[in-house]
Amino acid sequence: MIEILSNIKLMFFVLFFIILFIIESYYSERTWGTKRFFRLLFHFKLAVINTLIIRIPTIFLIIPALMLMSENNYGLLGMLDLSFLGQAFVGMILLDLAYYWWHRLNHTNSFLWRFHSVHHLDTHLDVTTSLRFHFGELLLSSIYKTILILAIGMPISVFIFYEILLSACNQFHHSNIKLSQNSNKILKRFIVTPEYHANHHTLEKLSRDANYTSILTIWDMIFFTYKDATKEDRKVMGLDDRSKELGIIQNIKHPFNT
Ligand SMILES: [Zn+2]
Ligand SMILES: [Zn+2]
Repeated sequence: MIEILSNIKLMFFVLFFIILFIIESYYSERTWGTKRFFRLLFHFKLAVINTLIIRIPTIFLIIPALMLMSENNYGLLGMLDLSFLGQAFVGMILLDLAYYWWHRLNHTNSFLWRFHSVHHLDTHLDVTTSLRFHFGELLLSSIYKTILILAIGMPISVFIFYEILLSACNQFHHSNIKLSQNSNKILKRFIVTPEYHANHHTLEKLSRDANYTSILTIWDMIFFTYKDATKEDRKVMGLDDRSKELGIIQNIKHPFNT
């Protein structure tokens, strides 16, 4: 069952990636200063390394936690008398809220920032950036996810459905797709749009240390972390270090440089 669901997740990921890659070729917000092929190749290599490493915590932590929860009624959802749909709804809202705090912690905690800053070293922003994570961040977030699965009592299918939704949203808000002013305004009341997440990737710290949410924008509203950047700010993505857009070894070593 888990194997089938994981394959569905990968299938959706690849399909959605290709669709967004094509759309951003025709309706782009910013022009690329680096050849897109090199960006795709670099981020693809990073994704292959990450996929291999992440199998370890998936096999030894996440899957056993999900199996344990499917056999027992532990966790918060087990305590509430809810239908399956009710469980799915509450479970996904709680996960989204928890991921908001995880991302926020990745910016405020200096140890976590060492790893998360690899994502922010990108001096451009497009759908390939959604593949750009240091494996250290992914390993640490696997531990966090395992704790969440156990605390919430996540059913397997709901967890995988949320992960598919999250990766689709992640690809969409990193894309370089230009939306009309109106659609951006309406959409960002509910979910993170490409412009909304571009605010989070600015060199400008005020909007970078804000706009943390992954799917629902309500979390940034509730916790006062929604900060709109100016159009000028959104022209400069990344961090002060402009030398590590591409380069596998440089990016892997980055968290360990003091
Ligand atoms: Zn971030
Ligand atoms: Zn991002």
